[in-house]
Amino acid sequence: MAGTTTPFIVRKNDGPGNLAALRKATRQWSEVDNGFSRLSRRLATSLSLETLIAIFAEELAALVPYQQLTYRHQIGKSDFVFSTGLGGAHRCDYRLTLEGVNYGGLTLSRKSRFTEEELAGIEQALAIAICPIRNACQYASVHQAALTDFLTQLPNKRALDEAMERECSLGERHGDSCSLILCDLDHFKRVNDSYGHIIGDHILKATALELAKATRNSDSVYRFGGEEFAIILPHTSEAEARTVADRIREFIASIEVRCSGRDVQTTASAGIAMRQPGETPEQWLARADEALYRAKAQGRNCTRMADSIPNQKAQRPC
Ligand code: GH3
Ligand code: MG
Ligand code: MG
Repeated sequence: MAGTTTPFIVRKNDGPGNLAALRKATRQWSEVDNGFSRLSRRLATSLSLETLIAIFAEELAALVPYQQLTYRHQIGKSDFVFSTGLGGAHRCDYRLTLEGVNYGGLTLSRKSRFTEEELAGIEQALAIAICPIRNACQYASVHQAALTDFLTQLPNKRALDEAMERECSLGERHGDSCSLILCDLDHFKRVNDSYGHIIGDHILKATALELAKATRNSDSVYRFGGEEFAIILPHTSEAEARTVADRIREFIASIEVRCSGRDVQTTASAGIAMRQPGETPEQWLARADEALYRAKAQGRNCTRMADSIPNQKAQRPC
């Protein structure tokens, strides 16, 4: 067909020598089953940092006995920690760096001293693991960035979708109660129009900080859209969620951003929906959104609860 090209592989040095080398490499690859080559092969099977460190811990234990292995690394805002076993008095610490970049710290401990030969073995294993660990760290930070809102540094809508999926399956399995609050700043367009987008951005960032203060560690806060935020509250009743929503609104109302000698303030409206058995994330979110729409329609700066039975007709106008 005109205009198409057939993909082909360019073979350089095509000759009998290559075939012998290939056969030798194939034979050696399947025959070599020492700890280091098995470690190298297994580390190539995953991009998950947790899986890689678990493989490293398992393969190293077969070469150098230890009682505890701990790996720590800060990826974006979160602290990744992997720990296995219980420690002893003797320890060795390694800081993993490649081309000047830090990829975490590893600590091994046990009751007896590590010999020089064992330390050399650990270092050999780390030399094998460092590139796969670097790749996994980079992958984890790209993944985290894809789930993070740039302005507020809160998890974004995509992260909310994942979390709601998770809560729905946990709820179906264990019957746990879970509440969702949607919170939307009132007349935010006016704030932008009157004071400019930079002031608007300051208020959004301050809102993210207030939301963190107004919620518990077990709750999770998301930037759902432009000036909309979502909060998931596991194991939380309707009454408790209402208290949190009202506290959130109070905290947002206390934000003051100084602009041209004036303190710019804003209020927020909130809609709450408790997850119902059998409900999908979309249905749950739609009920919270409907409650938020009612809060807006009934004067703003207030909280409204969703009906417990999904209201198919409730639709938010654009
Ligand atoms: P309502 O009380 O009905 O929610 O009114 P509203 O003005 O808050 O809602 P509307 O949907 O009309 O406008 C939302 C505004 O939020 C408009 C948009 O410019 C602003 N906004 C969205 N994202 C950002 C952002 O990242 N930064 C700033 N400064 N403003 C944003
Ligand atoms: Mg708004
Ligand atoms: Mg909005």
